[in-house]
Amino acid sequence: LTRGGQLLKNEKCPDCDAAVSIADDAVQGEIVTCPDCGLDLEVVKSGADTSIKALVVEKEDWGE
Ligand SMILES: [Zn+2]
Repeated sequence: LTRGGQLLKNEKCPDCDAAVSIADDAVQGEIVTCPDCGLDLEVVKSGADTSIKALVVEKEDWGE
């Protein structure tokens, strides 16, 4: 096992299809930002597979 080097995985932004780099040791729920459109993306781990999905931010009530 090699330590010290971070493998980067490229996923596609679901919004603009830009390549988004994800560290191999990224954790579930980690937030990455699309370099192209600035969309916040959440890292989703599924077994050995890592993918991303658009982060849904719950907005507070608008009030008045
Ligand atoms: Zn994007």
